[in-house]
Amino acid sequence: EEKTLVDDKTIVKDYFNQTGFDRWRKIYGTDEVNRVQLDIRKGHQQTVDTVLDWLKADNNLSELSICDAGCGVGSLSIPLAQAGAQVFASDISEKMVGEAQTRAQDALKNLDNIQFNAQDLEQLEGEYHSVICLDVLIHYPHEKADEMIGHLCSLAKSRVILSFAPKTCALAILKKIGSFFPGPSKTTRAYMHKEKDVIASLEKYGFKVERNAMTKTRFYYSRILEATRS
Ligand code: SAM
Repeated sequence: EEKTLVDDKTIVKDYFNQTGFDRWRKIYGTDEVNRVQLDIRKGHQQTVDTVLDWLKADNNLSELSICDAGCGVGSLSIPLAQAGAQVFASDISEKMVGEAQTRAQDALKNLDNIQFNAQDLEQLEGEYHSVICLDVLIHYPHEKADEMIGHLCSLAKSRVILSFAPKTCALAILKKIGSFFPGPSKTTRAYMHKEKDVIASLEKYGFKVERNAMTKTRFYYSRILEATRS
C-alpha cells in the first residue's frame, strides 16, 4: 500500500517535471494550443475564476494567509497575491513551481507576499487561514484521498477549498481524460472522486461545505467545494 503511493507520487512528480510540465505549462498559458487543450484551458480558468470570485466577494483577502497546495504554474496563487493575500504556493514538481515563480516575477510588482516551495503537499506544515487545492485530487486514488484531505484540513484554521473531477457522468469522461494522458510509460493515471466521499472526508475532519460550484466544458469537469470549520 505505502509502496504503491510512493510509486504513484514518483510517477506524478516525474511527469510534471518532464512531459507533463511542457504540456500543462502550455495549457495553463496563452500560446496557441489545439482545440481540446483550449477547452481544458478555458474550463480550468473558470474554476480559478470561481474561487477568486468567492474570495474577493468576502472582501478580506488582504487579511488572509492562503496555502495553495499543488499550485502548478501559479494560476490561482498569482492573482491571490495580486489581491493582497499572503500566499504560500507549493507543488511537488520543481519545474511547475519554478514556472510559477517566473510568472509571479513578471506579473507582480514585488514578491513580498508570495512564497514558493517545491514540496509534496502531504509534507506541508504550519497553519493557514485557508488551504486551497485545485485539480490535484485527480492524482490521488480513492483509498488515498481521505488521508490527503485530512492533512489539508489539519493545516487550515478556517477554510478548505478543493476541486476534483467528479465521479458521476464518469466512464465516458474517464476515457476522455485517459486520452489527455496517453501512453502508459509517460503517463499519470486520472482518478475521479464521488462528491459524497469528498464531503464525508471534509466532515470527518471538522469541515462543513458552504459553497459549491461545478465547471463543465467539453473536456474539463471540476467540482469545487468550499468548506469551513464547523
Ligand atoms: N492547482 C493548479 C491549478 O489549478 O492551476 C495545478 C493543477 S495540475 C492539474 C496538478 C498539479 O498538482 C501539478 O502541478 C502537480 O505537480 C501537482 N501535484 C500532484 N501531486 C502533488 C502532491 N502530492 N503534492 C503537491 N503537488 C502535487
